[in-house]
Amino acid sequence: MKTISDIKSARNTVQNWKKDGYTIGLVPTMGFLHDGHASLIEKAVKENDKVVVSIFVNPIQFAPNEDFDKYPRDLQKDSDLCKKLGADLIFAPTANEMYPSKIYTKVDVQSLGDNLCGAKRQGHFSGVCTVVSKLFNIIKPDKAYFGQKDAQQLAIVKKMVEDLNFDIEIVPCKIIREPSGLAMSSRNAYLTDLQKNSALIISKSLNEALKSLKFGEQNVGKIKNIIEQKIKSEPLAKIDYIEIVDLQSLEPVTKIQNDILVAVAVFIGKTRLIDNFVFKMERE
Ligand code: AMP
Repeated sequence: MKTISDIKSARNTVQNWKKDGYTIGLVPTMGFLHDGHASLIEKAVKENDKVVVSIFVNPIQFAPNEDFDKYPRDLQKDSDLCKKLGADLIFAPTANEMYPSKIYTKVDVQSLGDNLCGAKRQGHFSGVCTVVSKLFNIIKPDKAYFGQKDAQQLAIVKKMVEDLNFDIEIVPCKIIREPSGLAMSSRNAYLTDLQKNSALIISKSLNEALKSLKFGEQNVGKIKNIIEQKIKSEPLAKIDYIEIVDLQSLEPVTKIQNDILVAVAVFIGKTRLIDNFVFKMERE
């Protein structure tokens, strides 16, 4: 497995693979890899001849008050894992390689980016879509793998690919959790043991909401209330948002008629964690 940090060499490597008729899978990440990322890489290895894992903490998707500087990084450990999983190339550019000069062109994300995390993180999804487009143009993969953990990101990237005619299949991957139920995240590394224990309230609250939906509850307010009360029972947890939105449009729903996404963002101390589930309406 190679690790490359410059765009030209990454392009050459992939171009040579393509000349030999290999299919290419791309797993875009910000590194500090865990089993959630590993599940994406494993799927990519199964479905493609060559797999590229990009590791890049993208400055333009962080607001000035966010955690860009302290975001955890460990390229050596990441590269050991990628090698073990059978990836063929790590593309780990510096910020200067990706943004050598001020950029004047960004992907503009419209309404899908207005709610949920988009409402809380100004410019975040424009930054995400810009870097994902750059990675797509550099690697030119056949398939790219994204986790349902970042449900809004997945929906926005899928729509971007459709809107901008990228010839790439977006492969969604399910959320991987710790045995405790906590959704895996590089940001879990910020948590003390006590905070990690408090963070379990997030998946517990979502499980309760799912249970009530399965029992036939259709009142959006009541479902949100179940989640809110549960999270509020944990003193270290502070709700950023609780949203129930249409799975396609990501617009808030008042009635549960179509498939929905139930998504939350919660601060545990200074660490902002997100989690979600999809509830599909049964149709005859
Ligand atoms: P990140 O490094 O956080 O930008 O994540 C890179 C990719 O891994 C994104 O597509 C995420 O949705 C996905 N991912 C992160 N955590 C998980 C998880 N717990 N389960 C599944 N996918 C995940």
